[in-house]
Amino acid sequence: MANRFYTIMIIPENSSRARQIHIPAWLLRAAMVILPVLVLIAFTLFLDYRFVANQVYENRELQSENRRLRQNVQLYQNRMEALEASLDRIENFSARLKMITNLMDQDQLSQHIELPPPNAAANLSFASKQLETPIEQTLPRKEDQNFERLSLKSLTLEQNLHDLYELLSDQKSFLNALPTKKPAEGYFTNGFGVRLSPLGDGVEKMHEGVDVANVVGTPIRSPALATVLYAGRKSGYGQIVILDHGYGLETWYGHTSRILVKAGQKVKRGQTIALMGNSGQSTGSHLHYEVRVQGIPVDPLAYILEN
Ligand SMILES: [Zn+2]
Repeated sequence: MANRFYTIMIIPENSSRARQIHIPAWLLRAAMVILPVLVLIAFTLFLDYRFVANQVYENRELQSENRRLRQNVQLYQNRMEALEASLDRIENFSARLKMITNLMDQDQLSQHIELPPPNAAANLSFASKQLETPIEQTLPRKEDQNFERLSLKSLTLEQNLHDLYELLSDQKSFLNALPTKKPAEGYFTNGFGVRLSPLGDGVEKMHEGVDVANVVGTPIRSPALATVLYAGRKSGYGQIVILDHGYGLETWYGHTSRILVKAGQKVKRGQTIALMGNSGQSTGSHLHYEVRVQGIPVDPLAYILEN
């Protein structure tokens, strides 16, 4: 049994010589045991390889999806920031309007003001441009809706406020009297409130207006309809113009180089009343601008409605 051979004969078609291969029986038996084991191992390795390759592919997919999501989150954050900026501007604008309307007779106001129906996104250049771009489809649906709702709300609010302002603008006599324009081109160099004295003596003083700096000769324009109350010299202020706007409102213009109006004269909003200069107690060419309500200086910036 142990010395048995199996013989395989190979007989080619065009040759007379046949070939014989002797295989010991034990080898054949061993092969019958080992071969299936080898096949099994190869098959297992193949499956394992398929699994790993699949994992690598999935990993790559996940990475790119992750990148997309991160970009979307960034986009979302940018939009939220734009929205926040828009809401800030609305808040600022409404605070000013509120302060201004508080000056008006409340009964008169309620007779005339009815909030217009929401009519969003008409002419709101900045905010709408920021928000119009379509939101990525991959953004979570709920957040998407929240965001859209918030955007619309903010735009509606802004539109309402603008409409309200337009309506208030129709109250001509009152609104024409409000100093809502910046009286001269230039930089605000000194705000309203307690400041160190400009003379450099270290003394703190109440600065009762704002300073707008520009070159000598820059036109100073009336920010509202008014009557000239005073035009001439005044201690500390140099050559000054004082305008009376009615409703207890006065505006003062100090340090001018030239006065172009006379006391008693009526001036329109935007009319040049004087030229900027350096007269009186001044350290350089600028306009010292004050707004007084019933004789008390208030922050003029609170009235300026333009940027
Ligand atoms: Zn000043």
